[in-house]
Amino acid sequence: MSVIGIDFGNESCYIAVAKAGGIETITNDYSLRGTPSCVAFSPKNRILGVAAKNQMVTNMKNTVFGFKRLLGRKYSDPHVQKELKHFPFKVEQRTDGGIGIRVNYLGEDNVFSPEQITAMLFTKLKDVAATALQTQVNDCVISVPSYFTNAERNALLDAATIAGLNVLRLMNETSATALAYGIYKQDLPAPEEKPRNVVFVDFGHSSLQVAACAFNKGKLRVLATSTDPFCGGRDIDMALAEYFCQDFMTRYKLDARKNQRAFLRLLQEVEKIKKQMSANSTRLPLNIECFMEERDVTGEMQRPQMEQICTETFNRVERTLRGILHNAKLRPEDINSVEIVGGSTRIPAVKNLIEQVFGKQASTTLNQDEAVSRGCALQCAMLSPAVRVREFNVTDAQPYAVRLAWDAARGEDGDMEVFPAFHAAPFSKMLTFYRKEPFSVSAYYSDQVPYPDSFIGQWNIRDVQATAEGESQKVKLKVRVNIHGIVTVASASLVEKKQDSSQNENVEMENSNENAQGTQDAPMETNGGSQEQQQQQNGPDNQEENNDDKKDKSKDKSKKVLVKTIELPIDARTHGYAQHDLNSYMEQEGKMQAQDRQEKERADARNALEEYVYELRGKLSEGEVLHDFVAEDQRQRLVNQLDALEQWLYDEGEDQNRQVYSDKLGELRTEGEPIKQRRLEFELRPGALDDYALAI
Ligand code: ATP
Ligand code: MG
Repeated sequence: MSVIGIDFGNESCYIAVAKAGGIETITNDYSLRGTPSCVAFSPKNRILGVAAKNQMVTNMKNTVFGFKRLLGRKYSDPHVQKELKHFPFKVEQRTDGGIGIRVNYLGEDNVFSPEQITAMLFTKLKDVAATALQTQVNDCVISVPSYFTNAERNALLDAATIAGLNVLRLMNETSATALAYGIYKQDLPAPEEKPRNVVFVDFGHSSLQVAACAFNKGKLRVLATSTDPFCGGRDIDMALAEYFCQDFMTRYKLDARKNQRAFLRLLQEVEKIKKQMSANSTRLPLNIECFMEERDVTGEMQRPQMEQICTETFNRVERTLRGILHNAKLRPEDINSVEIVGGSTRIPAVKNLIEQVFGKQASTTLNQDEAVSRGCALQCAMLSPAVRVREFNVTDAQPYAVRLAWDAARGEDGDMEVFPAFHAAPFSKMLTFYRKEPFSVSAYYSDQVPYPDSFIGQWNIRDVQATAEGESQKVKLKVRVNIHGIVTVASASLVEKKQDSSQNENVEMENSNENAQGTQDAPMETNGGSQEQQQQQNGPDNQEENNDDKKDKSKDKSKKVLVKTIELPIDARTHGYAQHDLNSYMEQEGKMQAQDRQEKERADARNALEEYVYELRGKLSEGEVLHDFVAEDQRQRLVNQLDALEQWLYDEGEDQNRQVYSDKLGELRTEGEPIKQRRLEFELRPGALDDYALAI
C-alpha cells in the first residue's frame, strides 16, 4: 500500500508519494509532473488530464476546467455566475439548485455535478499513481485552499469517495507547504525556545493564500492566514486577454469576445507571454495564426505595460500580504523568512511586493510547483501505518469564527462563539446543556466567508427526556473542527451521575467538579434556571486527530462519582451528498470507468491490427526482408489483402468492437507468421544444420 499526497490545483494537480527513502513527485502518462485539472468527453470515452487539455480548443463544449471553484456551491451563487461567463461549456441549474455541467458524452447529453467531474480527475490521478508505483492506491491526503468552507470541503470529500479514494486528511494548502518546509529544517528552535516565524505565500491560478507559521523542533503551528480566493494568475490572463481583444478590435476590426474559440486560444497565448514576461524584461511578441475569419494576428507587450494593466490584481495581492501581519499580529521584523510557492509567485511584481511589505526578499527554499503535494504526502505517511517518516506535528488554524445557536425559547442566550477565527484545529469543545426534551443546535460562520451563506449545519439531538423526577438531563455535545477542517457536532451524550457503584461496563469516571482544570466555564443564567453551559478546552498542542472515542480527560481520583454516559442519536443536516446519492454516483463512475477501459482495449486492438498491416506489407515489398520467403502469387494475394484491410480500417473498420480487430489480426497472423518463421529459420540455418549433423 502506498500513501500519496495530492495537490488539487485549479489549473493543475501534482501527486507525491512518501517512501522510506523520502518524498517523490510522480510523473504522469506524458512524463509530466503536473496533470491539468481538465476533464473532457467524447462520443466514445472520457479524456482526462493532459490529453483533455490538448484537445480543448477542438472540443470546447465538452472540455471542462475550472471546476475546483464550483465545488459545494449553488448555481445561483454570485461567484458561480461570475465564473460561468468564462466557460465555453454549458452549465445549468439542477432541480435542487446545484450546478449541472452539460456535455455530450457517448453521443448523448449528460449532466454531471462538479463533484462528479472532480471525481473523474481523481480517478485519473489515482491511475497515474498506481501505474507509477505499480500498486493499488487508496489512502491519500488531498490539499484544499485554507479558505474553503464546510460546504466546499464536504464536496471535495464526496468527490474523493466517488473516485474510491480514502482521504486521511484534507489539508490546507499553505499548511502542507509549511510541513514540507519544516520537516527538512534541522536548525529549528528547541520546543521551549522562541519559535521561528515563517510566512508562506501561495499565489496560484485562481487564488492567493498566505499563512504565518511558528516553527519549533518537530512541530509547527499555523498562527493565521490571509487569503484572497478571487485573485490568481488567471485574473492576469483575463486582463491581458481583454487588452489584446481591444487591440485586435482597433487594428484588425476583429472582436474575439464574440468568438469563444478565438478567445480561448487568446487566453492560452497570453498565459504563455505572461510566463515569458516573468523572465524577460524585453518587448515580447504574441502571434496567433488563423485567429478569426482566417486572419493571423500579432501583438506585443512588455513587462511594465502588463503591470499597469494588472494594477488591480497587484493591489489585491498587496492587501492580502499586509493582511497576514494584521491577522497573525506580527511585525515584519518578527518574520524569519517569506517562502513562496505557486506558479504566479514567479512574477517579478509579486516578488517586489513581498519585499516591500515584509522588508525581505522572497525565498525559494521549496519547489514552487510541488511543495503542496509533498507536504500532503508527508502528512499521509504520518497518518498511515504503512510508511514510517519522521514525526512533525502540525497544528492548523480554523480560518473563520464559528458560532453555535440553539433554541432560546427559555429566554437564554441561545447563541455563542465556539471557535474564534484562527483557533487551533483539529479541536473539540464540550458544551453542556440541560434539557427535558429533544433539541437542536445549528452552527454558522460569523465572519465574512467567501460563500453566499454562512450556514454550517443543524443537528437534532434525539431521545432526550426528563428524568423520573421530571428534572432536566445533562447532555454533552462535542463540537469539533475535525481533521478535514470541517465543523461538526461529533457526538451528543446523556450524562447520568450515580453515587452507587453498579457494575455497568459503560460506566466511566468523571471529575465531580465540572469546572476542573482545563475547562472554561460559561454558565448561563436562565429563567428556568436549568441550563448551564460549559466548554472543555483541549490545549492546542493536544490535538485530537481522531479522538471521537476518547474518554473524558478530566479525572480526579479523590472525588469519585460514577458517571454513565449514553450516546444519543443525532440527525444532522449539513452539506454534502446523502449516502444513496453517493452510492449512485459511485456506480455511475464505475460504469464510466468500464466504458473507458473497453474503449481503450478497442483502440489498442485497432492499433495492433493497423501496426501489423503496415509492418507485414512493408516487409513483403520488393527488396525487403520477407519478400523472398513466400511464393510470388501468395505474396501478391497477401499484399492485396493488406491493402484492402488498410482501406477498411479507415472506412467501416474505423469503429468496430475489439473482437473484430483481434479476429482479423488472428487471421492475418496465420498467414504472416509462417513467412516470418521461414525467414528466421533461414537465418538460423547454419546452426540448425549443425544440430542436424550432430544428431545423425
Ligand atoms: P490554485 O492554487 O489557484 O488552485 P494551481 O495550484 O493549479 O491553482 P499553480 O500551478 O500554483 O496553480 O499556478 C498556476 C498559475 O501560475 C497559472 O496562472 C500560470 O499561468 C501561472 N504561472 C506559472 N508559471 C508562471 C510564470 N513563470 N510567470 C507567471 N505566471 C506563471
Ligand atoms: Mg495551488
